[in-house]
Amino acid sequence: MSLVSALCEFYSGPLEQQLAPANILVTAGASEGLFAAGQAFLEEGDEVILFEPFFDIYCGSLTFAGAKLVPVQLHLRKPAANADGSEPDLSSSMYQFDVAELTAAFSDKTKMIWINTPHNPTGKMFSREELEVIAELVRKHPKCIVLSDEVYEWITYDDTVHNRFATLPGMWERTVTVSSAAKTFSVTGWKIGWSIGPHNLVNALSRAHEYIVYCVSTPHQESLARVLRAVMKNDYLQQLKLQYKRRRDILVEGFRKAKLNPIVPQGAFYITIDASRINIAPSEGLDTVTGINMDWNDWKIARWFTGTVGVTPIPCSAFYVPEHVKAASILRFAFCKTEELLQQAVLKLANVPHLLEESQSKRKQELSQ
Ligand code: PMP
Repeated sequence: MSLVSALCEFYSGPLEQQLAPANILVTAGASEGLFAAGQAFLEEGDEVILFEPFFDIYCGSLTFAGAKLVPVQLHLRKPAANADGSEPDLSSSMYQFDVAELTAAFSDKTKMIWINTPHNPTGKMFSREELEVIAELVRKHPKCIVLSDEVYEWITYDDTVHNRFATLPGMWERTVTVSSAAKTFSVTGWKIGWSIGPHNLVNALSRAHEYIVYCVSTPHQESLARVLRAVMKNDYLQQLKLQYKRRRDILVEGFRKAKLNPIVPQGAFYITIDASRINIAPSEGLDTVTGINMDWNDWKIARWFTGTVGVTPIPCSAFYVPEHVKAASILRFAFCKTEELLQQAVLKLANVPHLLEESQSKRKQELSQ
């Protein structure tokens, strides 16, 4: 009860609701909230719309529930080239969905739409206008429940406003907002999260939850309740943003110096780069310690970064449905690291232009053989 009461106090303002304990379910990390949502709301064959790329765990939660994933692409819409032909600076706001594609994704089998803002892997923060478009479609489909994953809600930059879907007109009744302690307090191992929404939806989640983990470790709940009460009285959340902004800026600068145009995130702690223009030799990027030897291009480039540059990204094909993995060309670099470590990464990234030149000549040689 102490954690649920603290959460009521903490979120009543941001969610613009007078929250009561019945509006909140404490879960084993946001991960369990996501899994419980699949179990609570979905039946075999129900369709779930989600924006691709999407956090890979969604796939497990939805497929175990028997649902069909209906991906809607976030397209990287780059602006026109600069006058000197170079690429302009990029921002995660340039990842955008096509309204016609989203409209076409809805059908009479659509049971849920899953939103994630700030978004993993891109750092995109959905604008109020984008959320309004989604809300308009949700209003036209009365069966559709919305899940809004907001685990990076407090890690935002440059005055970009975090918009909460549940605060849009008429959307509180339709939405479960999922978050956790993991990102806000840098304790991913604690696995404490919460799902917030109207009583009928939270009640359904609780029914699933009691047969998944039953409850979450009490000592962790008690300590988190104390932490939340402290945070409501101090400037921790502002400090958190500033710390991550410094880290983001170190790495953004490093990528720019390395002539790898970073897609600067508005939120979360990842930077993506477009790997489709990085050409390495066929013999490079093949080493693997796991024995998993995917020959997709983003895996090859990610292995090349790991083995040759010394900085490891995640190949984002993991964030696409199987039919789309081959087209995936985004790499995700995480900066939830110390500033010292990020400075070391920047030194290594400085070698990239030179290493890529070497790769180019190797590539020419190998391709002409
Ligand atoms: N949602 C997103 C978008 C995430 O990135 C993560 C963690 N990587 C989670 C949910 C899971 O959060 P938790 O650790 O609280 O289970």
